[in-house]
Amino acid sequence: MNPLTIDGAQGEGGGQILRSALTLSLLRRQPFRIERIRAGRAHPGLMRQHLACVEAAARIGLARVDGAHVGSTALEFEPQGLVAGHHEIEIGSAGSTLLVLQTILLPLLAADGPSRVRIHGATHNPLAPSADFVAEGFLPLLRRMGANATLSVERPGFMPAGGGVIEAVVGPSSLVALPLEDRGALRDVRIEALVCGLPREIAERELGVVARRLRLRADQCHVVERPRSEATGNALHAILQYQHLRVVVQALGRRGLRAEQVAQGLCEDVRRYMLGDGAVDEHLADQLLLPLVFAGGGSFTTGRPSGHLESNARLIEAFGAARIAIAPAQGDPAKTWLVRVDAVR
Ligand code: ATP
Repeated sequence: MNPLTIDGAQGEGGGQILRSALTLSLLRRQPFRIERIRAGRAHPGLMRQHLACVEAAARIGLARVDGAHVGSTALEFEPQGLVAGHHEIEIGSAGSTLLVLQTILLPLLAADGPSRVRIHGATHNPLAPSADFVAEGFLPLLRRMGANATLSVERPGFMPAGGGVIEAVVGPSSLVALPLEDRGALRDVRIEALVCGLPREIAERELGVVARRLRLRADQCHVVERPRSEATGNALHAILQYQHLRVVVQALGRRGLRAEQVAQGLCEDVRRYMLGDGAVDEHLADQLLLPLVFAGGGSFTTGRPSGHLESNARLIEAFGAARIAIAPAQGDPAKTWLVRVDAVR
């Protein structure tokens, strides 16, 4: 098969274009060449975390790869098959373990045997889905679609030290899309403030602000403490249980950012989601496109499309895997958009 040429500078020109290309290449056994990798970013080319995605994809796809080194701005990838089994993947930095997992998850679901994958890196990164986001939001939704996949956090890991480990257990599955056009009524809100190797008081201050601003009861707010020996970091999550789906909103603590500011950031994102009426939040929206392609098509509503959603959609179309329509839904066009994925077999 002739390799497809992908322009890594298209859309928002980040790492997701590469990761989605790897996933589609494995699923469709389609070789590709990507140029101008991450040209839209301040430090273009492959960083350790992107290289780890390439290496993980190459391992499970028995792929021939050219250009896989840190700083590389062009890469060729030619998969030969799909191998299930036990895979141990080291990012070698505090890159996101979840982004590596998302790159290979659908191909592992498509493989013909069970897999166990352990990935070493960070579990809670800014600008990436956290382990909680994936374990509580993304994966439960995929399981409802038919995916046989579980995730556990063996050790949390944060920037800049990394040192975290996740383990995913995946079995052969096929997916079927769910109706995701209406979130339904809000049934429950749970807030979790995670502190690792940091004073419990940080989590308590965060929960105090969130409880006040979102008018929650004390029994909806939980401190999660991990042993001091594991890692140092803080993450705050809101788990919003709606009638038809569960939405997870994350905010990460970092040095120099006060606990109250972390909490305010979370409240703003929760409010923004609650004020909209699309079912799927901004981040889940771009992450859901590939599962819907794998499911043979589907649709969902969301808020105003992000750059990630648009460029992921264009990449999927470039692979000839689906036609994706993103258009204002009926009603207030600035508020709710309908995304339709029609898979091409
Ligand atoms: P780069 O370094 O090139 O920016 P990257 O590989 O780190 O790239 P992106 O291409 O920006 O990452 O993709 C980030 C992914 O993380 C997207 O799928 C996005 O939806 C997801 N993401 C970012 N922030 C959040 C968040 N707060 N909650 C959940 N998911 C998030």
